[in-house]
Amino acid sequence: MDTVVVGERPGSLQRWFLRGLKPVMVARGCRFDPPSPDAAGLVLNLITGPRPRSFRRQSKAVFVVAIAETSEPPSNILKTGYLLLARAIANVLVFLVGAPTPRVYFITLEGGCYEIAPDTSDEAFFERVFAELAPLVNSTLIIDNEVVDDLPDAERLADTIPSQIRAAGARLDRMGLLPSPFPLDELLPPDDLRHVRLMFGIGGVSYGNVSARSTNPGQFWITATGVDKGHLGEAGRDIVLVRGYDLERRVVILRGSPTVRPRHASVDTIEHALIYQEHAGVGAIVHVHSWMAGVPATRINYPCGTYQLACAVSEVVRRVPDPTRAVVGLINHGVTVTGPNLEDIFERIDGKLLPTVPPM
Ligand SMILES: [Zn+2]
Repeated sequence: MDTVVVGERPGSLQRWFLRGLKPVMVARGCRFDPPSPDAAGLVLNLITGPRPRSFRRQSKAVFVVAIAETSEPPSNILKTGYLLLARAIANVLVFLVGAPTPRVYFITLEGGCYEIAPDTSDEAFFERVFAELAPLVNSTLIIDNEVVDDLPDAERLADTIPSQIRAAGARLDRMGLLPSPFPLDELLPPDDLRHVRLMFGIGGVSYGNVSARSTNPGQFWITATGVDKGHLGEAGRDIVLVRGYDLERRVVILRGSPTVRPRHASVDTIEHALIYQEHAGVGAIVHVHSWMAGVPATRINYPCGTYQLACAVSEVVRRVPDPTRAVVGLINHGVTVTGPNLEDIFERIDGKLLPTVPPM
């Protein structure tokens, strides 16, 4: 992958990090400073201070890793790091904490915070850093929406599924399962927020999403992104009807009505779509940033909205004894729960979800 380093003059920890990571990347065929910086697939942005400079990518295909350092460990690494991640508008933050040899944390947009544990040698350590980073960089976002205006109002309003999803959202809210500890809309100025929406498809009002099959075969309703799932509005706008996806064009296809414009579908729509496609018995899916003890989990922390995350979750769903009643852990992220319907899901998760995701 072609890589450029941008940003501020590196501090001592950032220099240590680049010195260790670069040779490992080069040995794996990565090329630094390609002839045209616009062609880079990976941007390492060295940031300093509480209000770091963001790197504005031109395309979703560019993956931005912000690298920050602090010699004084903050009281809350996730909170401090998430603010930097959001302000830098990066896909991932590498947070170098403490001196002279820092501890290295990854902070993700999903609110994941995990340490790459020290190793016997720097070389072995940076191999692990690269192994952690490469799958994320090489993953493919499928978050763009294409709207086909073929949903008549009569059909949109007759379907009873959106009201079930609305009730499910309110129920998750009452259960305290729609946390927004780092509301992007409060952290970022409107212009940056628009950019984040465009690049990552997320609005950051509340994590989590709910979907359920529509009465039309092969179609399902799902919550939109950037809306408060505790107070979902109109069917066709806050809860959108998905009729498929196109991997080649990297789009999710929605049905739009002549009177109501659909908001952007949940960033995890592709994950729901793969599960519905494979398991006819799955009628509903709930995803929250909580955890359940003892659940089977994915191994790689792919970003939300990537085809790779969708495939990784599907693979776990396929493996469990009953895929129509699966609880799958998404490592350092949350859980996805399938069920024949929403009621069945709530009966199974009620009182069993842990409010925070344990770092792994
Ligand atoms: Zn999520």
